Amino acid sequence: MYKISELVNTGKLLTSDGAWGTYLFKKGLASGSCPEEWNLSHSDEVYEIAKSYIEAGSDIISTNSFGSNLFKLSQYNLQEKLSEICQTSAEISRKAAGEEKYVMASLGPTGKFLIMGDVTSEELYNSFKQQAIAFEKGGANAVCIETFYALDEAEQAISAVKENTSLEVICTFTFDKSEYGFKTLMGISPQQMTESLILCGADIVGANCGSGFEDMIEIVKKIREVSARIPIIIQANAGMPVIENEQLFYSETPDKIKEIVPRLIDAGANIIGGCCGTTPEHIKVIAEIVGKFNQGKK
Ligand SMILES: [Zn+2]
Repeated sequence: MYKISELVNTGKLLTSDGAWGTYLFKKGLASGSCPEEWNLSHSDEVYEIAKSYIEAGSDIISTNSFGSNLFKLSQYNLQEKLSEICQTSAEISRKAAGEEKYVMASLGPTGKFLIMGDVTSEELYNSFKQQAIAFEKGGANAVCIETFYALDEAEQAISAVKENTSLEVICTFTFDKSEYGFKTLMGISPQQMTESLILCGADIVGANCGSGFEDMIEIVKKIREVSARIPIIIQANAGMPVIENEQLFYSETPDKIKEIVPRLIDAGANIIGGCCGTTPEHIKVIAEIVGKFNQGKK
């Protein structure tokens, strides 16, 4: 089996998956409870999410492990279960993906800031290392270090994965549009991110979450200014959420993204999926467009 980045380098476009968080809540996860604990107590529900993305046409699916680091699990007194939670998350997605599709284990930021002295590099590294080893044991192909905003924390995560496993490293940052252009919470531009992550050894870079598919076109162009070759993954939110009748609505419907996805591909994106507010219906639309591009009849 090709590595994901090798497959992209053959010229193939790939579809990843959509939101997990919103989906878990739909399945009954109570707010305030630990989403990753569901890998142990509600593995059938977690499996159904993974399976629904495979059925929608994902080539790569994620895992229910976004907050599976020591710092977040400690808030629920689950730090002792880190390895079990991470390994199980990968096993569940592997079962849904079979041997033909890819599993990229989700690894989110810790919420701790090195620059503030909240935590040491070593403490971050050790948490990421434990997670990565467990993801590999559970059968993941890659780790998706996602929704990051600080270069120093990303550097620890990438090193921890590369030095302790043979998993591929995907790394995505989250950018907001400001008067100074697209920047992360820590003021990092897409160009700065790309330069640094390539130096750290990331195999695939990109952006996730943010303000929607439309804005990602500009971000892809910025990444391509730095590197013509690095595989790019984009997992956009379904637009900016608006609250109506105490419910969250996302403006970029599956129908709306139909005309945006081809432009994202033209800008240079190689792997496309969704983040908050996206559903298997969004993934179906993406997979169809990606399939047409792959057959050369866009
Ligand atoms: Zn998101």
